[in-house]
Amino acid sequence: MLPIGGPIISSTEALAPKTLPKRLTVVGGGYIGLELGIAYRKLGVEVSVVEAQERILPAYDAELTQPVLESVKQLGIKLYLKHSVLGFDAASSSLQVREPNGDTLNLATDQVLVAVGRKPNTQGWNLESLNLDMNGSAIRIDNRCQTSMRNVWAIGDLSGEPMLAHRAMAQGEMVAELIAGKQREFNPAAIPAVCFTDPELVVVGKTPDEARAAGLDCIVSSFPFAANGRAMTLESKSGFVRVVARRDNHLIVGWQAVGVGVSELSTAFGQSLEMGARLEDIGGTIHAHPTLGEAVQEAALRALGHALHL
Ligand SMILES: Cc1cc2nc3c(=O)[nH]c(=O)nc-3n(C[C@H](O)[C@H](O)[C@H](O)COP(=O)(O)OP(=O)(O)OC[C@H]3O[C@@H](n4cnc5c(N)ncnc54)[C@H](O)[C@@H]3O)c2cc1C
Repeated sequence: MLPIGGPIISSTEALAPKTLPKRLTVVGGGYIGLELGIAYRKLGVEVSVVEAQERILPAYDAELTQPVLESVKQLGIKLYLKHSVLGFDAASSSLQVREPNGDTLNLATDQVLVAVGRKPNTQGWNLESLNLDMNGSAIRIDNRCQTSMRNVWAIGDLSGEPMLAHRAMAQGEMVAELIAGKQREFNPAAIPAVCFTDPELVVVGKTPDEARAAGLDCIVSSFPFAANGRAMTLESKSGFVRVVARRDNHLIVGWQAVGVGVSELSTAFGQSLEMGARLEDIGGTIHAHPTLGEAVQEAALRALGHALHL
C-alpha cells in the first residue's frame, strides 16, 4: 500500500538524501526505522514512528529496549505504537493510520520512510528457472550453504534470517573455501546482532527467554552502566550488560547489552561464546579500567554472587 516513489522512500533513499524533509514519518519501529529515525531527528527533522506492535524494537525484550525508548522520547521523536498504516494521501501529503480504538488518524508529513518488510530478493531475475527448494521466502540451504542443486550455493539475505552483513560475509568466505576443495561447515556458536540506535543494543547468543524455551536452567545477571566509570565519563549511564549462563556448569549461553558504544562489546561476547567461556573465565579476567568492558566482567561476577561495584 506504500509503493516507493516521490515522498515514499526506502532506506536506500533515506541513506543518501539530497535535502532533508521538515517532517519524516517512519513506518516500522524495528532497528532500521529507529536507526534512521534517530539520525534524521539529530539532523533537526521532525520525526514520527508508526509501529503496529505495542513497543519499539519488538524483536528484542522490553527490559533491553527500555533505555532506547527513553532516549527516543528525550530526542522528541513522536511514537504511534499499536497504530497500523492504511495508506498515503498525496493530495494532503498525509499518512493515514488506524488508531488502537479503530479511528483513522491523518499524519501530515513530507516524507514517509518504509522500514518494514525486508525479504530475500528472489523475484524478478529468473531464479525460478533453477527450481531450487525454498524455505519460505528464502532459498533452502544446508550447513555448507549448498542449495538443492549440486554446485549451486546461496549466501546472505537470499538464504534467510538472520539477514546480517557479517553472516553473509562469513558464509561467502566459507563457500569460497569449499569451492577451493577445503572441508568447511557453517556452524557458529552465535551471530551477533547490533542495533545502532542511540543508545546501542547488542544481542549475542540466547536471551533469558530463549534459554528458558530451550529448557535450560540459567542464571541471568545484569550490571548497570550507572556503576561503570567509563560510562560516567561518557556522560551516559543508562543501560546495562546482561549475561545468561547455565546454572549447573556456568557455561555462558548468551550476552545482551544496551548503552552508548556497546556495539564494540559484541566482539568479546562473540569470542566468549565461541570459546565456550564460563562465568569464572570472564569474572577472573582482568579488564582494563576505565572501560565499558568492566561491566562485562562485573555481570559475570554478579552472576557468581560477588560483583565488586554493586
Ligand atoms: C538500512 C539497512 C541497514 C542495515 N544495517 C545493518 C547492520 O548494521 N549490520 C548488519 O550486519 N546488517 C545490516 N543490514 C543488512 C545487510 O545490509 C545485509 O544483511 C547484507 O547486505 C546482505 O548481504 P548480501 O550479499 O546477501 O546482499 P546485498 O548486500 O544486498 O548484495 C546483493 C548484491 O546483488 C546485487 N544484485 C541484485 N540483483 C542482481 C542481479 N539480478 N544481477 C546482479 N546483481 C544483482 C545487488 O545490487 C547487491 O549489490 C542493513 C540493511 C539495511 C537495508
